[in-house]
Amino acid sequence: MTQQERILLHLQDEPTCGTSFLNWHIPRYAARIHELRAKGHQITSERCKIEYHHHHSPQTVYTLRNHSWVTEDVR
Ligand SMILES: [Zn+2]
Repeated sequence: MTQQERILLHLQDEPTCGTSFLNWHIPRYAARIHELRAKGHQITSERCKIEYHHHHSPQTVYTLRNHSWVTEDVR
């Protein structure tokens, strides 16, 4: 499974914080998300407000907006 596919799977589950991708050893997640957007996936980003994360610097949460397209793409 490629890193792009792994990121997509996580995003299909729930909005995902950038630090989570780091934990899953996808250090270049920003570039992968850029590529996924270029393929037509609607992924929005906003500042992480997950209560228990307690970031020292602002982090980004990514949210997948169009599940139907994704299902089609993965098939
Ligand atoms: Zn976070």
